[in-house]
Amino acid sequence: MSTDPQDRPGRTELHHLHELHERAAELDAADEIAWTRDRFVPMGAGESAVRAYLDGNSLGRPLRATQRRINDLIESAWGTRLIRSWDEEWMELPLTLGDRIGAVVLGAAPGQTFIGDSTTVMLYKLLRAAVAGALTSDPRRTSIVLDTENFPTDRYVAEGIAAETGSRLVWIEPDPSTGVIPEQVAAVVTEQTSVVLLSHVAYKSAWVADLAAITEIAHDVGALVLSDTCHSGGVLREDVDATGIDIAVGCSYKFLNGGPGAPAYGYVAARHHDRLRQPIQGWMGHAEPFVMGPGYRPSPGMRRFISGTPPILGMVGIADTVDLIEEAGLDRIRAKSTALTRFVITAVDTHLARHGVRVVSPREDARRGAHVTIAHPDSRSICAQLWSRDIIPDFREPDGIRLGLAPLSTSFAEVAIALTEIDDLLRRRR
Ligand SMILES: *Cc1c(COP(=O)(O)O)cnc(C)c1O
Repeated sequence: MSTDPQDRPGRTELHHLHELHERAAELDAADEIAWTRDRFVPMGAGESAVRAYLDGNSLGRPLRATQRRINDLIESAWGTRLIRSWDEEWMELPLTLGDRIGAVVLGAAPGQTFIGDSTTVMLYKLLRAAVAGALTSDPRRTSIVLDTENFPTDRYVAEGIAAETGSRLVWIEPDPSTGVIPEQVAAVVTEQTSVVLLSHVAYKSAWVADLAAITEIAHDVGALVLSDTCHSGGVLREDVDATGIDIAVGCSYKFLNGGPGAPAYGYVAARHHDRLRQPIQGWMGHAEPFVMGPGYRPSPGMRRFISGTPPILGMVGIADTVDLIEEAGLDRIRAKSTALTRFVITAVDTHLARHGVRVVSPREDARRGAHVTIAHPDSRSICAQLWSRDIIPDFREPDGIRLGLAPLSTSFAEVAIALTEIDDLLRRRR
């Protein structure tokens, strides 16, 4: 029998993966914002504890501060202040919390951001308002530009609005492992375009769209830009005011950890407030909601985009993560996020490529958001097996495993655990 370790099956892999865990420990020790991990509610204990949570971009983990805040809400603002809390804080909360998100997450001056309904409903309201606004100023603006790789809700909502307004959908077909590039937008926008709808970070590939260049191209033909920031809000600098984006929508239960079903935030640049009318004209968006008069008259400013009683319970959890993002600093958060995704890519190239695993996210750091999708023909069953081992990534059609890395809560050690398990599962299949 040979004594050369190189001859023994599996030996080299084990050696390399040992290195992976060592490298993860080094990176965790050097992590400037490692302290933020202790702010989260632990992921269970003992046998049933989650070993690696790589889905913080689908449902962020709760902060301990949020646990206290929800308890306080029940005991105090709701339990004892009761209906008086509407006057004392809740009526203004969609706008005050919106301003906090505007300042910390979006780079928006006050008075342009609010919390509303679910992301889907928010997208509907603001896209519908933008399309109607464009059609009112020029009835020839009958096309909406979007891309085939955008999240389903974005595509479906646009389909419905096109049917309602007699608009035409103009599809960009991006490379699925990257995303929409400015040249593709330039090739399709015309003076007939009402709105260009796209995601800042693509939900599958993690491609970061060049919003500054795309906005300039759209504005050159008089079209508006609506940016979906679901996968970028809280991990990337948005700079909506600086880039001149017209409208943005984003999810608050992903990187903002607002909790399941937490309502979305919406941004509308101040220059559009008087021009845009949203389609769900409820009493809370009225100029004088408590007069309860005969006809609808939209409130000045952002309040006009509110429809009815806002979901306060779903909203309170967002504030603590916004505070934490401010405390940690978006630049440090982005630096850690880039280090996490780069760690995955290097590990896949070094250890998993030999099993046929491919990286289908951008390799250029600046063009990659906070997740990495890897592809393998057995991804569906690998994901199921990982879940049964308390390692939680996401399966994405047709053959992707999406590793979502939330920089405030994910450790490099967790990533190493997940990659080692994937290697282990694939080695057993050979
Ligand atoms: C997560 C996500 C949504 C979710 O919409 P909901 O109405 O909250 O279910 C919408 N768009 C994008 C791009 C997303 O990533």
